[in-house]
Amino acid sequence: MKLSELIFGNIDLSREELEKKYPERNFPEGAKVTRLGPSPTGFIHLGNLYGAFIDERLASQSKGLIYLRIEDTDDKRYVEGAVDTIIDSLSYFDINFDEGVTKDGELGAYGPYYQSEREDIYKVYVKELLDKGMAYPCFLKEDEIEAIRELQMSKKDNPGIYGEYAKYRDISFEEAKKRIESGEEFVIRLKSSGHDGEAAKYISVEDAIRGNLAMPENFQDTVILKKNGIPTYHFAHVVDDHLMRTTHVVRGEEWLSSLPVHVELFDKLGFELPIYCHTAQLMKMDNGNKRKLSKRKDPELSLDYYKELGYHKDAIKEYLLTILNSNFEEWRIENPNTDWREFEFSLDKMSTSGALFDINKLDDVSKDVLLRKSADEIYDFLLAWAAEYDIEAKNTLEKYSAGLIKSALDMGRNDAKPRKDLINASQIFDFISYFFDEYFQLRDYMPAEVSKEDGIDILEKYLASYNHEDDNSLWFEKIREIADELGYALKPKDFKKNPENFKGHVGHVSTVIRLALVGRAQSPDIWTIQQLLGETVLRERVARYIDELK
Ligand code: GLU
Repeated sequence: MKLSELIFGNIDLSREELEKKYPERNFPEGAKVTRLGPSPTGFIHLGNLYGAFIDERLASQSKGLIYLRIEDTDDKRYVEGAVDTIIDSLSYFDINFDEGVTKDGELGAYGPYYQSEREDIYKVYVKELLDKGMAYPCFLKEDEIEAIRELQMSKKDNPGIYGEYAKYRDISFEEAKKRIESGEEFVIRLKSSGHDGEAAKYISVEDAIRGNLAMPENFQDTVILKKNGIPTYHFAHVVDDHLMRTTHVVRGEEWLSSLPVHVELFDKLGFELPIYCHTAQLMKMDNGNKRKLSKRKDPELSLDYYKELGYHKDAIKEYLLTILNSNFEEWRIENPNTDWREFEFSLDKMSTSGALFDINKLDDVSKDVLLRKSADEIYDFLLAWAAEYDIEAKNTLEKYSAGLIKSALDMGRNDAKPRKDLINASQIFDFISYFFDEYFQLRDYMPAEVSKEDGIDILEKYLASYNHEDDNSLWFEKIREIADELGYALKPKDFKKNPENFKGHVGHVSTVIRLALVGRAQSPDIWTIQQLLGETVLRERVARYIDELK
């Protein structure tokens, strides 16, 4: 009897059958097969999106495929509904899986795509390693492992179970049998053939982002099967990425340190190593220091943050491209109106030193992205956001005419030097909210250069001379006349040169009018706003402001 039979009983499956069942994919040369392997913890963040986006780009640019595999071998971390959350969150950003776990069950011939359902498959390979003497059952108890750790600390040895510390690596069949039959718990460890310290050989791995990595080989007898018979991440991903014929493994740099273990496992199992792509951590500037984005401290790590504020998914993706590929911004300048999908994303243009996430930069990208969208599209986007996140805003948007709102959204966007006022849905709603009577608010103060009395005077004269038919230049001419009459300079630079000669300048005068109409000191062109508001509303607002000043 073999040890593997003692442990697993009869295993019907064989390596040959598995190889046949999961054959090499019939893809043209160069097509990439990528995967996302999240744990179902229910929290999917910007880092996941960043990785998934790389997977998606690599797969779709090469006419390959991206699949979703749920890495649920750690049931402590399972959160109900998490898989749906993962799928929904990513699909909001147009990351849809060609294969694997979907909302309608599992899709594809390389499943099951839940690791928890692949136990029989993993056992085939654990058995093989046991039979070849490349793995062994280890009966070390928690307290023994603790004692080993202390001893290693006192001797300044590397921590872990390896070499002389690996008490069971040469256990005899009889002893193993006795212990197993008496019900003792055990894990299965890899019997590493690597060396520690000076005897260590170096392995060399070609990382598609980082280039050639030279690392000391693994020497740890890493656990491959846990006490409960479930494999560790190390083992499961090696088997899965092989059988699912993954060509590119994109994952965070936190996995770099276990890469030597993975290389040894691929090697011992006789599988070809996929191309690893270890991405840099997402960082942010915090008080002048670069640090990792943190779940606890940084709301912007959560994807809901962007959805709630109403960032357009194209803005998020273009922003990700700017941090992913150093040449994207240049491409964007050269191709201002091209769809971002036309940009050739490449792994070798990725930073290895940490991708700096900057919300102000996201806002700048977003402004440009929205500038390329039609007012119709922005209107629909705004309405869809409001329906989900702000019912009051939705009701208001529906109360006013779509034509008015679209014109409001479009103000100044077609000028030679277009305005870039729009960033995200909540900000856009706020930006145009003065068009809605129920949202109108006086937010800013009168300029210091204008006295209350002058304010009233300006507005009264304005009402008296106002003609809704006036074109933009005639309208402004009348404001200049009011300014002149009341002692304000017609040009800001005249006022700056001789401040003692004037109370202020024409800009201060028009600010008073702007405050009356929109409640803010800044806005797009007042004449255009008035045309949209209509004469009745505009006269009411000016009259109301006069009353308030009185
Ligand atoms: N399940 C791993 C995680 O949650 C995935 C790592 C990988 O993509 O290989 O981080």
